[in-house]
Amino acid sequence: MLSPATLLIITALLCTMMLLVMLSLRRSRLPGIREWTWAIILEIVALGCYLCQNAAPMVIGYVLANSLIALAICLFYAGCRRFFRLEVPWTGMIATVALVAVVIPVLRYPVDYMNLRVAFMSVVHGIISTMIAYTIIKYRPAYRATHGHMLTAVLALVFAIGYAIRGVVYLHRPDNTPLLVDGSIINLIFLSLGALIMPGLTMGAVVMTHDTLLSQAEAIANRDFLTGVLSRKAFIEQAQREMARASRYGRALALVMVDIDHFKAINDRYGHPTGDAILRDFALLAEASVRDGDYIGRLGGEEFGILLPDSAGPAAAVMAERLREQVAARRYRAGEQIVRYTLSAGMAVWQPGETIEDFVARSDYWLYQAKQSGRNRVQGDPAT
Ligand code: GH3
Ligand code: MG
Ligand code: MG
Repeated sequence: MLSPATLLIITALLCTMMLLVMLSLRRSRLPGIREWTWAIILEIVALGCYLCQNAAPMVIGYVLANSLIALAICLFYAGCRRFFRLEVPWTGMIATVALVAVVIPVLRYPVDYMNLRVAFMSVVHGIISTMIAYTIIKYRPAYRATHGHMLTAVLALVFAIGYAIRGVVYLHRPDNTPLLVDGSIINLIFLSLGALIMPGLTMGAVVMTHDTLLSQAEAIANRDFLTGVLSRKAFIEQAQREMARASRYGRALALVMVDIDHFKAINDRYGHPTGDAILRDFALLAEASVRDGDYIGRLGGEEFGILLPDSAGPAAAVMAERLREQVAARRYRAGEQIVRYTLSAGMAVWQPGETIEDFVARSDYWLYQAKQSGRNRVQGDPAT
């Protein structure tokens, strides 16, 4: 049967492996990784102190071991807060560790209240694990899959519940056998729980970090760097997907091509940075103006595409005209100056069987017509 000491040694090795994984993520420079790394380092040191509980002075085997374990879980919590770019309650965390450093020796000497000590540490762990779960659930990203976040939160909750049970059980435990020599099943189960918490949470943190890095990479690949709307490539891919959907379900699909009027003159007059700011301003107005499920992409310099699934011509024309009016009424403040700009738009409704090239070319044709007819206007398929 596994002895408590063997279990702790295995945990220390597991933590060391997780430390190596964590260290490999340092290059990502995501906030929180430094705190998580320190959490696991301190956990390994604490386990070392624990293991020499019988040989080392009480200060090391009990006070330092428990304080470091409390500091480790606090630092893990700090890592979660930093990961979500929240403030870290350092004072509360230092107070928690200080409380542990005071309470542990009081419960150890002159009388050894071992069960009370275990119950006390279980409360500390239970509360912080709950706070970890709460933070992750509350601040997880809203607009993408967050399996890694949910995994970590669920693990933290399981640990919190386990610690709550452990606290209650030890408060009612009749004997006082030290944990390191108590080979009972219940002690081994609780020790395993304690042993798994840091490697388990660290694994969750690694998965959360991977999720975040992946979504960042995706954003870089699919988003236009300047305005944050879809890149040309992502927009065209999305349009092809929507064309297939429209074809399968017999739905309407409209494409509006937008080009800012006399944009070269805006650059010349106000400078290139202001030109960039106008592009961002337009992207924000457009995003506010479309429905959920519509797509906006930057197709070239000052040319944007808006894809409207399930929209026939009239609905698309209303949207485009509303956006045109909003832009024409817009007074963008660039320092001391007020910049006004207008757009021209061309709109086409997808015809079954039409290729993406032809669909874009038809919208472009109507955009060209809008420019030719004097700009600051929307033109589209006569059928619509
Ligand atoms: P029109 O009304 O016919 O569309 O005239 P225009 O001046 O908007 O069109 P033109 O195609 O002649 O000029 C587009 C300008 O957009 C030229 C280019 O320098 C500028 N431009 C392209 N990309 C960017 C960008 O990322 N930032 C800024 N500030 N300007 C850009
Ligand atoms: Mg233009
Ligand atoms: Mg242009």
